[in-house]
Amino acid sequence: MLGWWLQCIEAQLEVVLMPVQPEQERASGAGCWCCGTEYPEAELVRLGRHPEVGVCLQCARWLQRRAVRRYDGQHPSPAGRLRGGIHAVRSAVIRKGWHQRGMLGSVLRLIDRHLP
Ligand SMILES: [Zn+2]
Repeated sequence: MLGWWLQCIEAQLEVVLMPVQPEQERASGAGCWCCGTEYPEAELVRLGRHPEVGVCLQCARWLQRRAVRRYDGQHPSPAGRLRGGIHAVRSAVIRKGWHQRGMLGSVLRLIDRHLP
């Protein structure tokens, strides 16, 4: 009888301890679920209902821009058209590789940090 109780307790302990395991893994080394690069926890943004999902700050910015573009497509407005124009210019600059050209690239990247 005591053996059966010990087995039950051990089984319950496994069930209770299983959710703790991912927390330990997350603390030791976490990667971005978008680009796959390893980042310290301070440089990841976690999803509210799924904290196991972490996205790096660069990918979070990229996702934010995609979400805004999709929202603007579904809710047309003058501000949305302006953001669409900015996106078209940004895409052209990246396609032509101007963002990687010395001083011009530095200025373009600086401007991009302040654009929606
Ligand atoms: Zn990333």
